Amino acid sequence: MKKIALISLGCAKNLVDSEVMLGYLRNAGYKFVSNIKEADIIIINTCGFIKPARQEAHEALTEAIASKNTSKLPSQKIIVVGCYVQRDQKSLKHKFPEVDTWLGVNDFDKIVDAVEGIPFKHATQCFLYDHDSPRCLSTPPAWTYIKISEGCSHHCGFCAIPLIKGPYRSRNISSIVKEAEDLVSKGIKEINIISQDSTYYGRDIGLKDGLPNLLKKLLKIQSLKWIRILYGYPEEITDSLLEVMQEEKICPYLDLPFQHSAPQILKLMKRSMDGHRALKLINKIRKKIPEIVLRTSLLVGFPGEGPKEFINLKDFVKEAQFDHLGVFLYSREKGTDSYSLGDPVKESIKLKRQKEIMQIQAEISLNKNKKYLHQTMDVLIDGVLAKNPSVYTGRTQFQAPEVDGIVFVNRNNSKNNLINTIQKVEITTPDVYDLYGKIVK
Ligand code: SF4
Repeated sequence: MKKIALISLGCAKNLVDSEVMLGYLRNAGYKFVSNIKEADIIIINTCGFIKPARQEAHEALTEAIASKNTSKLPSQKIIVVGCYVQRDQKSLKHKFPEVDTWLGVNDFDKIVDAVEGIPFKHATQCFLYDHDSPRCLSTPPAWTYIKISEGCSHHCGFCAIPLIKGPYRSRNISSIVKEAEDLVSKGIKEINIISQDSTYYGRDIGLKDGLPNLLKKLLKIQSLKWIRILYGYPEEITDSLLEVMQEEKICPYLDLPFQHSAPQILKLMKRSMDGHRALKLINKIRKKIPEIVLRTSLLVGFPGEGPKEFINLKDFVKEAQFDHLGVFLYSREKGTDSYSLGDPVKESIKLKRQKEIMQIQAEISLNKNKKYLHQTMDVLIDGVLAKNPSVYTGRTQFQAPEVDGIVFVNRNNSKNNLINTIQKVEITTPDVYDLYGKIVK
C-alpha cells in the first residue's frame, strides 16, 4: 500500500483536521511516514490567515516540490489542503503548478478520493468532524484536543478566519461527550477544548450556557483528569462558566485574547472590550478563581497605533500581569474590514513593539514562576527529553500544550515508566517560561 507523509501547519484546530484525514487514510489501508522523501504522496494541510502562515506554507510546498522533482519514487504526488487553499487557490495554483490536487476546508472527509483521484461532490460548508469520524491522534498519549465547533460569527476587523471557515457552527453536546469518552477509554488524561471561540459554544444551536453545560457533562467522565478551555472571547465570559470552572478537574486556566487595550484601536478592530473593562473582568475572574492562570494574545502595529496607544498597551500588560502572553504583528488581510486602513506602521516598528512587550512579559513570567519554588504540584508527564532520557517532560494545570512553558522533571534514577501519569513534583528551579523539578516520592 502507498505511503503518505502529512504535514500539518497552523493551529491546533488544523491539527485535529489533519488527524481526521489520517484516520480516513488509515482506514483505507495507507501507511504513514514522517520523511517526505519516502512518501508516495505528500499532503500539506495549510494555514492562511496571516502573512507569516502563508510564508510557512510556501516553504513547505517548495520543499515538497523539490522532493518530487528529485524523488526516486516513480510518481510522487503532492496534495495541498486547508485554509490557504480555501482562501486563495487561484494564486497558489499559479505559483505552484507542480501540485497535483488542491482541497479547501470543506472536504477533509473526502481525502481518500482526493488521493485516489476519484471525483466527488464538494461540500458547501466547512467540514466539521464528529465522534464517528476516524482520527489518528498525533499528540502524546496523555493529552489531546477536542474541537467543539468550526467557524466564527465575530467580525474582528483584522481577521480572515470568518472568510475562510464561515459562521460559527457548534457540534452537538452528545457527539463531543461520546468522543471524549472514547478518547479517555484509550488512556487520554487531559482534554483541551478548542474552537475559534470556545466560550460562544452552543449559541448558534440555541443552547443557553452551552460551554458550562458541556463541561458539566465532561466532568462526569471518571478517568478524565484535566479539562482545559482554549480560545475564549472576553465578552463571552459568564458567571455560570466561572462557577463550573471551580471544579477540580477543570484547569484553572483561561486563554482570553484581548488583542489590544487602547479604546480607539479596539474600535477600529471592531472589538469592544478596552483595557479598563478588561482589567475589571480580569479582577472579577481572579476574585472568583484565585489560582486562575490567564493567557492572552495581543496585536501590535495595527493602523492608528501611535506611541500613545502603544504606551497604553504596555501599561495594560504591566497592570494585568498575565501568566502567559503571545504578541502577533498586524498583517493586512484582503477581504477584512481593516484592509481599507492600509498598513502604515513599519515592519521594523512592529517588531520593536513586539520585542518590548515580550521583554515586559518575560519579567512578569519569571516573577510568577518564582512563586512555585519548593511547591509540590501535579504534573502530567507526557514524555522524556530526547537529548537526556533521565529527564521527563510534563506540564502543570497552569501550562497549556504547545504554547506555554513546560516542566523538566528529574527522574531521580527511578526506572519506572511514568509517562502518561500525573505525578507530584516539587519545583526546584523556576525559569522565565519553564520550571524544573523532581518527583516527590
Ligand atoms: S474571534 Fe477570533 S477567529 Fe473570530 S473573528 Fe475574532 S479574531 Fe477571528
